[in-house]
Amino acid sequence: MCSGAHVLEFLRYLDQFGKTKIHNHSCPFFGLPNPPAPCPCPLRQAWGSLDALIGRLRAAYEEHGGRPEANPFGARAVRLYLREVRDFQSKARGVSYDKKRKRPKPRPTPVPTPTTSTTTTSTTTSGTTSSSATLS
Ligand SMILES: [Zn+2]
Repeated sequence: MCSGAHVLEFLRYLDQFGKTKIHNHSCPFFGLPNPPAPCPCPLRQAWGSLDALIGRLRAAYEEHGGRPEANPFGARAVRLYLREVRDFQSKARGVSYDKKRKRPKPRPTPVPTPTTSTTTTSTTTSGTTSSSATLS
């Protein structure tokens, strides 16, 4: 019996054969699709490859009589893993995967609201600025 955990092991195992450079957070080229110089970051399987592979395996499992609810390739853990990989790789490589698959996902983007209040100045000396103003 194959489970989602085995699928995750399989996906991690595949990483060692990857050809896609995925930069670490500490890498100076993090977020650059075309780094100007080599760096020691590991090569991983690209998310698109993993996603396509899982999609094929999931379909094959059900084609061979597997029940969808017991499909290890459709397990929640596998879906979460793929989503994590996608999110990290899109950041690390500066590639937005959302362009390909048009899914209207309302992402709560932190909109920089223009502060209309007068407290935009440094708040570190907020307690002393008013008192010093009255002293001078
Ligand atoms: Zn790197």
